[in-house]
Amino acid sequence: MIEDLYQEVILDHSRRPRNFHQMPDATRRVEGYNPLCGDKLALFVKLDGDTVQDISFVGAGCAISTASASLMTETVKGKSRQEAVQMMERFHDLLTTEKPASANLGKLAVFSGVREFPARVKCATLAWHTLKSALTSVEEVVSTE
Ligand code: ZN
Repeated sequence: MIEDLYQEVILDHSRRPRNFHQMPDATRRVEGYNPLCGDKLALFVKLDGDTVQDISFVGAGCAISTASASLMTETVKGKSRQEAVQMMERFHDLLTTEKPASANLGKLAVFSGVREFPARVKCATLAWHTLKSALTSVEEVVSTE
């Protein structure tokens, strides 16, 4: 039951990704690439001081990478830079740790099933790695490799 629900959320976000558009006035634009699967995305972030005022993405990838990017943009919009990075660390834990310490991830919990498929973990984390780069470094292209 729960797994069906998770599947439904991922399918919904992969078919109708939210915040899926370019942002000409973004303060940061970073590209992410997952060569294992071929997922590519460009992430646009508009920072207002320390706050992610707006965020969007464009790109092409598998259902998991697209759904993850879509849910990520919904999740971090309005958050501070630090909150977004903390969220990323928790999300990474969720996908790679047997018993993740903090479960307070809301909708992002739908990706917990990805843990069973190590090859897809990079699909799910691509958008987050790209976000981290957008928020913390000056790199313009991020690869999961
Ligand atoms: Zn993928």
